[in-house]
Amino acid sequence: MAIIKNISILGSTGSVGTQTLEVVRANPERYRVVALTGQSNDELLIRQSLEFHPELVVITDEGKYLKVKEALSGKGIRVITGEASLVEAAALTSAHMVLTAVVGSAGLRPTIAAIEAGKDIALANKETLVVAGELITALAKKHAVKIIPVDSEHSAIFQCLVGEEEHSLEKIYLTASGGPFRGKDREFLAGVTKAQALKHPNWVMGAKITIDSASMMNKGLEVIEAKWLFGLAADQIDVIVHPQSIVHSIAQFKDGSMKAQMGLPDMKLPIHYALAYPERVDTKFPRFNFLDYPELTFFPPDPVSFRNLDIAFQAMRKGGNMPCIVNAANEVVVNAFLQDRLGFLEMSDVIERCMSEVPFIGEPGLVNYLETDEHTRIFARQLVTK
Ligand code: NAD
Ligand code: MG
Repeated sequence: MAIIKNISILGSTGSVGTQTLEVVRANPERYRVVALTGQSNDELLIRQSLEFHPELVVITDEGKYLKVKEALSGKGIRVITGEASLVEAAALTSAHMVLTAVVGSAGLRPTIAAIEAGKDIALANKETLVVAGELITALAKKHAVKIIPVDSEHSAIFQCLVGEEEHSLEKIYLTASGGPFRGKDREFLAGVTKAQALKHPNWVMGAKITIDSASMMNKGLEVIEAKWLFGLAADQIDVIVHPQSIVHSIAQFKDGSMKAQMGLPDMKLPIHYALAYPERVDTKFPRFNFLDYPELTFFPPDPVSFRNLDIAFQAMRKGGNMPCIVNAANEVVVNAFLQDRLGFLEMSDVIERCMSEVPFIGEPGLVNYLETDEHTRIFARQLVTK
């Protein structure tokens, strides 16, 4: 019988968060939820809290605090709000592991707090590694904390590397579905709406990552995420478009042999793997059937229609605070696109302006990252004039 693992879930009301709770619900003998956090969906957060009885509940939107506190009063659940509340959930004494499923650079400080408190990290919040990968990986090493990826591509590589020696890896191929606009040209992309961009062919996810998938920025962020998770150089990372999202990614070793990890596109699989690692757990998830997919196909990415992948590679090669600049600018433009204030192609224009105009810092520390994030957001918002 496995020992019960106590888990803090940051961003429990989101797409990854709710799927994590499905995994916990199906395995009550393995996992216990000790903290739940949500930003604004108070009703769902209350329902989750009543079902899973965590010690601590965080609602970051202060306007909703009283409602959540009242709904959970007398239940033995502490409810908090405010800027530092996520950090408290991340560092909660009883937690063994923190699953980070908030969106964007908001995950940075709580992730640092969790690592400093010695918690293993199940990392969905890729933006944290994009912004400050060097700092986060060094800190994890210092505190002997494991960072286990939840992102399906990185989970795939992680699984391919189990049992391999560190220096055996030659390169990786991250697969990309290509999103809803695969094969489209710039003329078409200039006029696409948010409704079209929000229709991902293979995955149902939060709004931000869905737009990132349509613009290929998601793959760009994942390239940088992979660099830090697996200690790779830029030329050891390749992207290949694979519309069926069955091969989740591929590791190539120095003898030329390759391992791919496959399965149906369901985030519960990588979530489950990250929570249970190094074990594998019985599940009733549907199994892949080859005859349902007689063809698995692969294409090169299109750098003319989708500039974001190159933008991310450039930022990664430049290093310093450049990935932080790209991430912050991207968070602003995705928001603006979702509010119909910026065109699809203009998103990359604004990001590139930020890259050339926000001051570059070669060896940033935490304060530099936080300042770069803030300055870039201010500058990017000025460029969104509608
Ligand atoms: P989502 O928008 O569905 O959920 C985000 C969660 O974080 C919600 O609980 C929300 O309340 C909370 N949140 C958002 N902004 C916050 C803030 N500023 N402060 C505190 N809490 C905040 O997002 P998602 O699709 O679940 O994605 C979460 C993370 O996981 C992202 O980094 C994303 O890139 C990554 N990811 C998601 C998927 C997926 O299938 N959805 C797959 C791979 C990686
Ligand atoms: Mg992914």
